[in-house]
Amino acid sequence: MQQGDRLRGVVAVDGPAGTGKSTVARRLAASLGARYLDTGAMYRAAALGVLRAGADPAEPTAVSEVVVRCHIEVGTDPETPRVLLDGEDVAREIRGPAVTAAVSPVSAVSRVRELLVAAQRRIISDATASGGGIVVEGRDIGSVVVPDAPLKVFLTASAAQRAARRAAQDGVEDVAEVRRAVERRDRLDSGRAASPMCAAADAVELDTTALDVDAVLARVHELVVTRGLTGLAARGRT
Ligand code: C5P
Repeated sequence: MQQGDRLRGVVAVDGPAGTGKSTVARRLAASLGARYLDTGAMYRAAALGVLRAGADPAEPTAVSEVVVRCHIEVGTDPETPRVLLDGEDVAREIRGPAVTAAVSPVSAVSRVRELLVAAQRRIISDATASGGGIVVEGRDIGSVVVPDAPLKVFLTASAAQRAARRAAQDGVEDVAEVRRAVERRDRLDSGRAASPMCAAADAVELDTTALDVDAVLARVHELVVTRGLTGLAARGRT
């Protein structure tokens, strides 16, 4: 890719936990002068709001009542992702085990999805308004949030490999336990009624089991270029 090439439009990166989605999406955005949106961070912030309010994550009515009042803000700079819940930086707390255990039931609530998908579409539309680009990662980006995205990538990997990556990332020794947690989240995210995790019919599926991040990134870069989604940076833009 030529230096100065910038992404135009939306690249959707979906897939389950441990496929390398976040790293690939962030690095792709940074290398293409694009914005980056981590929609999982928004659902995690909502789940933290529910826990802080003392509501039961498995109670849809209580969850909706809390999330409607939460103010969730996410930054779109790929170098410094930022997540605020009611004005407080919660980037670290949303990665903890309590939020990870609560996020799937919270994100299965259709009112929560309506609110967050609307917010995601506003962010995406701002980022692309004047010819800019954004890489958006999640579970339903290509299928629901931006069904007309010009490039949709769905990353997969074996459960064993995904659990091993997660365990290494989080410094956890019990890989079997991590695998059970990852598989439980997969089941909940794929089995829910409201926009379940799935690959859009026109998504490019990429199995990352035997690939490192650089190899996945190279493949996605190639797709961006072959789809004609880059243009030279406008003069004066940084
Ligand atoms: O990507 P991450 O693991 O941070 O996502 C956390 C959770 O948020 C997922 O397990 C899923 O329940 C939910 N999520 C979702 N839709 C998205 C992104 C994340 O339901 N677009």
